[in-house]
Amino acid sequence: MHIAIIGTGYVGLVTGACFAEFGVFVTCVDKDMEKIEKLKKGIIPFYEPGLEDIVKRNLKEKRLKFTTRIDEAVNESLVIFIAVGTPPRGDGSANLDYVEEVAKEIAKNMNSYKVIVTKSTVPVGTGLKIKEIIKKNLEKSVEFDIVSNPEFLREGSAVEDFMRPNRVVIGAESEQAVAIMKDLYRPLYLIETPFVITDIATAELIKYATNSFLATKISFINEISALCEAVGANVNTIAKAMGLDGRIGPKFLHAGIGFGGSCLPKDTMALVKIAEEKGVELRIVKAAIEANQNQRERLTQKIIKAFNDKIEGKIIGILGLSFKPNTDDIRESPALYIIQSLLNKKATLKVYDPQAMENTKRVFPNIIYCSDAYSVAKDADAVVVVTEWNQFRNLDLERIKKLMKGSLFFDFRNIYDPVKVRQSGFSYFSVGRP
Ligand code: NAD
Repeated sequence: MHIAIIGTGYVGLVTGACFAEFGVFVTCVDKDMEKIEKLKKGIIPFYEPGLEDIVKRNLKEKRLKFTTRIDEAVNESLVIFIAVGTPPRGDGSANLDYVEEVAKEIAKNMNSYKVIVTKSTVPVGTGLKIKEIIKKNLEKSVEFDIVSNPEFLREGSAVEDFMRPNRVVIGAESEQAVAIMKDLYRPLYLIETPFVITDIATAELIKYATNSFLATKISFINEISALCEAVGANVNTIAKAMGLDGRIGPKFLHAGIGFGGSCLPKDTMALVKIAEEKGVELRIVKAAIEANQNQRERLTQKIIKAFNDKIEGKIIGILGLSFKPNTDDIRESPALYIIQSLLNKKATLKVYDPQAMENTKRVFPNIIYCSDAYSVAKDADAVVVVTEWNQFRNLDLERIKKLMKGSLFFDFRNIYDPVKVRQSGFSYFSVGRP
């Protein structure tokens, strides 16, 4: 089978490379020429563990190719995935401009029956909208089907998530489209991946409901962390005990600085908007968004208060810039919020991240970029762990302490043992732990 993936970002590239690995012939399309030129040489435009090997192998075996020509890709493919971005608009709703633009381009180039699949996260009703756009822009009379196949991969473990998903969701209107999608995903049948076959609207909503539930879980434990601080309880122990309850489960129950990234903040806001447009109020999702913002503010205030509000000229070291480990993605990263808030108070910022420095330089060109955690610590009045990269989990605390001017250590991912950090001579602040 030949397929096309339009939009070669985190989702599109992983999807394309993994389908090629399954033995499918894949053409990945992007309008970003520079990105495509790099990819043709096997250079991955972002950091994602394991992806480079798969891309290089499938390029070599000629199952994977890259182009800016959507016409050629559509012509030779039976299934066409739309995997372009759906960023938030100012009011929180999803911006569908890229999706609609691609739908028009696909329509103009359709020469035979095609299955057009939305992999991008799109509001309910978008599948039908795409159908209308394609009908209106067709230049030849050809049959087609629309499918919603939302993606659940996580940046940082995207390849593994795609190859071994918890489930595959397929929303379709025709038996033929379902059969083609099942055929495409056949390798996952062998590992007994559950398939949820449903209508398009339900599939579209599954993605938003899932992400909003995950966001709610994080915000829930973060609110509990604030209460823990007020009463002297330990949120880690509470989360552990809660997670042992099979009805709750342990995942997404780690108290910290809150969720970021390109999905949870955007998808929660979009779901609230989708519901509002239909006259439905999603109070819990709204509260999860508010609690997330509150957690960022509350923890940033912890730093400012530790300096009795006199933070001007203080040197603050930030460890971790990406919104989570194993990615270079800084979209909606809590680190950006902390940096901006401290810059507003005229602090001096020294930062380090194993992968996300280049992206951060575009946002904050004038802060100090360091080569590792120890150079961040040098002369710093405070050090703040924002992203729990493995290399920050076991720092030489004695060495950090000696290098620093001050002794404040903020651990906003609860990765250190409070007793040990304090024994090293630090004033230690974590999230929801005595
Ligand atoms: P991204 O910004 O990394 O990539 C989008 C790509 O689409 C870019 O390379 C851009 O140049 C390209 N593009 C835009 N318009 C185009 C056009 N007209 N023709 C060809 N290419 C075009 O985005 P992403 O993170 O991969 O997300 C894509 C979608 O998948 C979003 O809807 C997102 O919500 C969803 N999603 C993302 C993740 C994730 O972890 N990143 C997970 C699940 C779902």
